[in-house]
Amino acid sequence: MRHFDDLDRRRFLLTGAAGLAAAALPFRFAYAATPPHRFEHGTFKIAVVSDGFLKVPANVLLPDAPKDELAAQVKAAGESPDDLKPATNITLIDTGSDLILVDAGSGQNFVPSAGKLSENLKEAGIDPVKITKVVFTHAHPDHLWGLADGDTLRFPNADFHVGAAEWKFWSDGDLKQKLPEPMHFMINGAAENLARIQTRVKQVKGGDEIATGVQVLDTPGHTPGHISLQLTGGDGLIVVGDALGHAQISFSHPEWRHGFDTVSGLAVETRRALLDRAAKEKTKLIGYHFPYPGVGFVERKDTAYRFLPA
Ligand SMILES: [Zn+2]
Repeated sequence: MRHFDDLDRRRFLLTGAAGLAAAALPFRFAYAATPPHRFEHGTFKIAVVSDGFLKVPANVLLPDAPKDELAAQVKAAGESPDDLKPATNITLIDTGSDLILVDAGSGQNFVPSAGKLSENLKEAGIDPVKITKVVFTHAHPDHLWGLADGDTLRFPNADFHVGAAEWKFWSDGDLKQKLPEPMHFMINGAAENLARIQTRVKQVKGGDEIATGVQVLDTPGHTPGHISLQLTGGDGLIVVGDALGHAQISFSHPEWRHGFDTVSGLAVETRRALLDRAAKEKTKLIGYHFPYPGVGFVERKDTAYRFLPA
């Protein structure tokens, strides 16, 4: 059980999850809507819709990184080390016959700076009733918890797709014995939300097609069953989810342990493989946590890579 051995050593989970929980303040503030970022890819019409952003200190996101080097990377990204603000970018794929949402955002019970998907869909004139499929890259709060408002599903006509390994991971009845206490709110949230879609979920694996030209790509590590989506057309497009978590640091230092990766070594392998492939094949990427809208390309730089916004 490689990942549980790994997990035992995940000191981050203590600080990281506690930091996120502490940020979940019981108030919300007025929000100015963000218009969607629209473009066409092959036969698909894509819209990136903002769910807002998160807040996390750099040393929680990259707990093992050498301090000076981390500070330099944060500065290069134009961010403040105490207050990284990862965007939360939700991809909507219009295939002509399906409207596919990739992740559902944070909803109202996670952090006040996120959970804006519904407002932004409304402002954009996109009716949630018309969404036919929702694909979850993984079951962390900022991707999953927005699927319902109270007990009401926000996408009442959609089928839901989750990686089979992801479903299995969060369905493990002994998970609380295996993960540190500060992570238990994520286990509770996953249990509660996955139960809401239990009768309508399709468990998927790498190579499965969500729709013609929209294929599941296994990108495990951030969570054991994390998936991305790859789209045909041009040089390809990959909706990477959290397989690449930061538009500066995941590219320049893919080897640095990311504080919220569950299976750290595997997450590094996945990052390297994705970066290598996307650089070689000139694949377009959409990163969930890259600065909005998170669309761009990968270029080799020195011994690593860099992100080039489209
Ligand atoms: Zn995330």
